Amino acid sequence: MEQMKRHVDVMFSAAEIQQRVAAIVDEMAEHDCGKRFVMVGVLRGSFMFLADLVREIDRLQREPHIDFMTLESYHGGTESSGVVRLRKDVSVDVRGAHVLLVDDILDSGRTLTFAVRHIENKGAAHVRTCVLLDKPERRSPDFPISADHVGFTVPDKFVVGYGLDADNRFRELPYIGVVRDG
Ligand code: 5GP
Ligand code: MG
Repeated sequence: MEQMKRHVDVMFSAAEIQQRVAAIVDEMAEHDCGKRFVMVGVLRGSFMFLADLVREIDRLQREPHIDFMTLESYHGGTESSGVVRLRKDVSVDVRGAHVLLVDDILDSGRTLTFAVRHIENKGAAHVRTCVLLDKPERRSPDFPISADHVGFTVPDKFVVGYGLDADNRFRELPYIGVVRDG
C-alpha cells in the first residue's frame, strides 16, 4: 500500500491550531454580537474549524445558531476559476442578525467577498468574518478584503488538512500541512 503513505509536511500542528482557536474566541469576546447571533460556515473547507470554534465559543454563552452555505469557486484544481457559485444557501433567517462568516482560507478574496455580499443582501444587521488561514500575497486587487479574525497568515503555498482538501483528499488530517512533491 505504498501509495497510501502520506507525504504531508506539517505547517501547523493540531495543538497549535487549538491554541489559535482559543485565541480567536478571546478576540471575539470583545465584540458585541447582538441578540441574534448566527455562525455560517462556508462549505466544505470550514467544517472542522467551525466545529472547533463553536465548542470554544460555548464559554462566551452567546448561543449561536449554526448554519452553512456551500460555495464553489474551485474545480478540482489549485487555482481559483474566477467564478463563485452558490450551491446551497443558508436555511436560517439572517435578517436583522449578527452573522459571523467562517471560511477556511482567504486567497484571492473572491469567495469571502461573495459570501459577505450575499449575507448582507439577505438583510443581516452586521457581518463579521473569520478565516482559519490568510494568504495576503494572493489577494486580487479586485477583492481588497481582509478578515476580522485570522487564524494564521501563510505564504503562497497550497495547504491541506483540517478541512482543506486537494482533490477531496486530506480533509481529515487534524493538522495543516503542505503536500510534498514526488
Ligand atoms: P478565493 O476565492 O479567496 O481565491 O479562494 C478561497 C477558496 O479557495 C478557499 O475557500 C479554498 O476552498 C480554496 N483555496 C485557496 N487556497 C487554498 C489552499 O492553499 N489549499 C486548499 N485546499 N484550498 C485553497
Ligand atoms: Mg472554501
